Amino acid sequence: MHKGNESDHKLNYNGNYKGNYRKITSSDWRGTILLLVSYSASIMIVSFLLLPDKWYLWAFMIALGTFLIISWHTKNFAYQCPNCGEIFEISVVTDFLGPNGGTKKYLKCPNCGKRSWAVIVAKRK
Ligand SMILES: [Zn+2]
Repeated sequence: MHKGNESDHKLNYNGNYKGNYRKITSSDWRGTILLLVSYSASIMIVSFLLLPDKWYLWAFMIALGTFLIISWHTKNFAYQCPNCGEIFEISVVTDFLGPNGGTKKYLKCPNCGKRSWAVIVAKRK
């Protein structure tokens, strides 16, 4: 069933979402940018307060902050395979380690098994 007409998928995939997903909007971008800006600001404040004396606490805070931001990202976004159109979610670890190209991520599709630059989509809440 999934092996159908590939060009069809490519033609439709921008509008062709399953119920729980939607296209990324500019408000998603605003949310992400806001989060990254406050993250950078927190890093600066934490660095100012803790470095160099309490570097271990600093390292812990940075690791925790990074983990929180990535799990937020993992919870709110999924990826769509450009090859077969399958939408799938990834783990926090994959999100952290996978090569990232802004709105795309190099992932292996669980449906067709191809590695490609999957396109990010937002989860409906
Ligand atoms: Zn696929």
